[in-house]
Amino acid sequence: MFAYGSMLQLLVGLVAAYDQATQDPALELAVLLQDEALLRRPTAAQAIGHSYFDFIWTWRREETRACAVCQDLKRLANGLECSGAAAGDAHFLCDSCLDGYVRAQSERELRLLSVDDGQIRCPEPGCTSVFYSDAHLARHIPTQAFAAYLKCRQQLLEVRLATTIEEDLRPRLTAELQRQQALQAGEQARQHIVEQILTLRCPRCSTAFLDFEACFALTCRNCPCGFCAWCLADCGGNAHEHVRNCGAKPPGSDVFFGSAEDFQRAQNKRRQKLLSAYLDTLPDHVKTDTIHAIRGDLAELGMVFP
Ligand SMILES: [Zn+2]
Ligand SMILES: [Zn+2]
Ligand SMILES: [Zn+2]
Ligand SMILES: [Zn+2]
Ligand SMILES: [Zn+2]
Repeated sequence: MFAYGSMLQLLVGLVAAYDQATQDPALELAVLLQDEALLRRPTAAQAIGHSYFDFIWTWRREETRACAVCQDLKRLANGLECSGAAAGDAHFLCDSCLDGYVRAQSERELRLLSVDDGQIRCPEPGCTSVFYSDAHLARHIPTQAFAAYLKCRQQLLEVRLATTIEEDLRPRLTAELQRQQALQAGEQARQHIVEQILTLRCPRCSTAFLDFEACFALTCRNCPCGFCAWCLADCGGNAHEHVRNCGAKPPGSDVFFGSAEDFQRAQNKRRQKLLSAYLDTLPDHVKTDTIHAIRGDLAELGMVFP
């Protein structure tokens, strides 16, 4: 496994050149595989379950699994499998059971948490899987629960950093703390992106809206605002005059009407612009984590990577 870790790190260097998004979890995995001090070094099967290989498993997400806690049958994408001891031996938790479980675990006493540095393991008794990765938890539990989990891990790291007498352990703890802080900042940025950029809102009262029916002059359901479905400009009470001449309307479009695809395309273009501008405001290390965190959200909307 040591050789595999070294090879992976080499590979990651190459891959990173054109795929920054997968760089971080891969490095995390490479470090885990090379870490001789860690008894929990993963086996090959467990390593393959790591988030770095997510893109390979994308096709599997349409499959269903029974949740180990509530027994409900859920799509694989709507839950998390532990890394399992061997392939086919993984335990699946649906997102809502995972949420409850992680919350309960994060609320334990610090003394109990410190045993595993606040990391969380599959709840199945006797399961030998590695801990759930931060990147996986970030994508499967609500932002608040993830923030509580990270806060708890950071507190433990800070305590260890303050009390350790092993000087050579310090740089590693500091690096881990910084990694977690970047991850947390990345999650906050993701939340902002999903709520303020990807979710469509009335330009006046910010009520989210989904419904679009042929005419690009929309009226808010919550307030009297008339707005444009091309550019989301507040047009007073009636948007028809604006829509007639809207600058964001692609050439050749109808005066008022358009298809759902036209709407989606125009909105994705708008989102893309806002997203790039917002990402540019983030520090580079946070940007990397953020881009990784929003990949799934963008894919759901059929948006290309910024
Ligand atoms: Zn469940
Ligand atoms: Zn398990
Ligand atoms: Zn409104
Ligand atoms: Zn109309
Ligand atoms: Zn407009």
